[in-house]
Amino acid sequence: GQRLLGKTAVITAAGAGIGRACVEAYVAEGATVWAADINEQALEQLQSAVPAVKVKVLDVMKGDDIRAFADEVGAIDILFNCAGFVHNGSILDCDEQDWDFSSNLNVKSCYQMIRAFLPSMIANGGGSIINMASIASSLKAVPNRFAYSTTKAAVIGLSKSVACDFVKQGIRCNAVCPGTVDTPSLQARLNAFDDPVQARRDFENRQPMGRLARAEEIASLLVYLGSDESTYTTGAAHVIDGGWCN
Ligand code: NAD
Repeated sequence: GQRLLGKTAVITAAGAGIGRACVEAYVAEGATVWAADINEQALEQLQSAVPAVKVKVLDVMKGDDIRAFADEVGAIDILFNCAGFVHNGSILDCDEQDWDFSSNLNVKSCYQMIRAFLPSMIANGGGSIINMASIASSLKAVPNRFAYSTTKAAVIGLSKSVACDFVKQGIRCNAVCPGTVDTPSLQARLNAFDDPVQARRDFENRQPMGRLARAEEIASLLVYLGSDESTYTTGAAHVIDGGWCN
């Protein structure tokens, strides 16, 4: 299809997992895509798999680099802030450094990216901003996801606020809230268990569908939210969880 023809998108954390699946779906739908990631090697692999993509080494925790990137790219139609980190543990496991890291990577990065890209999006007549939240947020408590849920809840609030303030300028801003998605970082988290195979089974068994999401299934929602098919949705937390919260 060509559902994103003529649109330019910036996607962070584009080198693996959901971000990478989104890059592939967006390019397939005709978008011009800037794929940003901290991992240069992952971007090189992405570039050879998807030659049409423009890649950029970017740490979304570096404000100056974000602003220079926004100047380089110019006006865009779609901004997908995908970068995030899962801290494992309760409040007692989360020291101040853990708290700051999760806040900076999961929330402040959205603030910095939107501050950098929004003025040119407004000048360009509008656009779609999509921020990666999670079911583990204000939507559902999940054990040992203290810093993660706190920061992902903030991403939902941030998305609603931006949606509210710029709705008259053609800007839409939504959060996406996946359940558990089978990505390389999820596998890394499973590998940290004593029995990774059993850990995967446990993750699958807490899902009503008996399986995890595939990154491509999340990318389908991101195509919709980036495209003009979704022009009446803004300020929403889009749940995509295989019925986990149902
Ligand atoms: P992931 O967490 O493994 O991250 C993908 C990419 O992020 C990697 O290529 C990595 O290099 C890049 N990255 C890490 N730090 C970065 C930084 N500072 N700047 C730029 N890029 C950086 O992939 P994922 O599991 O697909 O998760 C992507 C997003 O989706 C995260 O925000 C995560 O919290 C969210 N999410 C994931 C799941 C899941 O089950 N996998 C569920 C809900 C939400």
